[in-house]
Amino acid sequence: MVTATTSPPHAIVIPYPAQGHVIPHLELAHALVDRGFTVTFVNSEFNHHRVLAAMADTTATTGLLGRIRLVAVPDGMEPGEDRNNLVRLTVLMAEHMAPRVEDLISRSHAETDEPITCMMTDYSLGTWTLDIARRTRIKSAAVWPASAAVLASLLSIPKLIQDNIIDSKDGSALMQGTFKLSPDMPIMHTAHLAWNCIGNHQGQDALFRNVFGCVRAVEKCDLLLCNSFLGAEEATFAQFPKVVPIGPLLTGERRGRAVGHFWRPEDDACVSWLDAQPARSVVYVAFGSFTMFDTRQFQELALGLELCGRPFLWVVRPDIVHGDVHDYPPGFLDRVGGAGGRGKLVAWSPQQQVLAHPAVACFVTHCGWNSTMEGVRNGVPFLAWPYFADQFVNQLYICDVWKVGLRAEADESGVITKEHIASRVEELMSCASMRDRVEAMKKVALESLKEGGSSHDNFDMFVRAMKE
Ligand code: UDP
Repeated sequence: MVTATTSPPHAIVIPYPAQGHVIPHLELAHALVDRGFTVTFVNSEFNHHRVLAAMADTTATTGLLGRIRLVAVPDGMEPGEDRNNLVRLTVLMAEHMAPRVEDLISRSHAETDEPITCMMTDYSLGTWTLDIARRTRIKSAAVWPASAAVLASLLSIPKLIQDNIIDSKDGSALMQGTFKLSPDMPIMHTAHLAWNCIGNHQGQDALFRNVFGCVRAVEKCDLLLCNSFLGAEEATFAQFPKVVPIGPLLTGERRGRAVGHFWRPEDDACVSWLDAQPARSVVYVAFGSFTMFDTRQFQELALGLELCGRPFLWVVRPDIVHGDVHDYPPGFLDRVGGAGGRGKLVAWSPQQQVLAHPAVACFVTHCGWNSTMEGVRNGVPFLAWPYFADQFVNQLYICDVWKVGLRAEADESGVITKEHIASRVEELMSCASMRDRVEAMKKVALESLKEGGSSHDNFDMFVRAMKE
């Protein structure tokens, strides 16, 4: 086992190349630096350039973020290829990134006086990263940047196959209905199994092979960490004691220290606009980094926000509409967007700062796990509007288990209508018990991060284990 003797412990941190993974992994890297580590942070070349371009400081030229060295490795895709094709990306990465990462570690051992001593790998890359950790004889922790419930469903794949709930070949549901992973855990629906909600049926078996492979792979790592907290998913952590909660990670909270955004956040525009709004008046609307709308739903959302009659801050990512054309309803921008208008539209927000702002009243969200934890940590109730992958299970937790949000529901034509959006927002704004519950949950989350709290103590344990 490689251990640092005179030099500080040196972690290699490898996120899956998606925004919702890079942000929490970079936060983890900052937290490791705070505990005396040096970090080599590996992005795909494509994301490395996006992260640097979104930064306004000297990191863009040096690749250094304090004691974090940002490095790039090609993902195997051609320039201009669709990196939202997660099936192809996953397959190519294993082939192209693995040798480069192994070389990086081996050279640090042979040629530098700061040898890499441990690895934090995204759980979803475990099929190849954890073999590298074993071959290069360094400690390893797998990081699951989403909910323990979804991780539990992955770890239960062998049992789901054995119980004839899913097909062993491609993970597709053999029955439609609900099941429980253990008597104390909330009900799950077969339609919501994350690997069946990626939206690319063509590569379903390849995707499932990787998902299943990761279940076996993580048996090889020293620790399995999860960005959740005990109070949020107690029954799951009781049933799956190998999964260690260290969250909610303070994603986006490090002012002046980059957290790995792919787009440059419009900090000043958002915060100064929020400063001018009354307390708890603003509807914050953001759908993370992946969600896409067709023009009809996009327009319905715009009209729904207008119909609310409340101030709103809406993140309209450049690529949020298929074809990248933002066709707003006629006159919409003039009515709500101009000076004195009720709406503020930005391409990317400093979301953590936004959710912490006293003017924000509720969060219309796609239920990405980071967004979910950020909303909880700031005590903001949700209008839950999932798009894909684990977001349906997260919606279930938000609406049925924690009862801190309401569902956005489509009509018979599959559209979430403007009237529905407006009435749900109104319901959320006027529901005192919903706010009380989310405030109570915020308290539990923050307690778990304080000295003596479960996530804090688990993080200490993890740091000790990686330093040994
Ligand atoms: N985010 C942000 N500004 C935005 C929208 C999103 O900073 O305008 C951040 C958000 O705070 C979260 C991440 O992007 O940390 C999105 O992760 P999530 O798991 O919520 O969704 P995904 O992008 O993976 O679907």
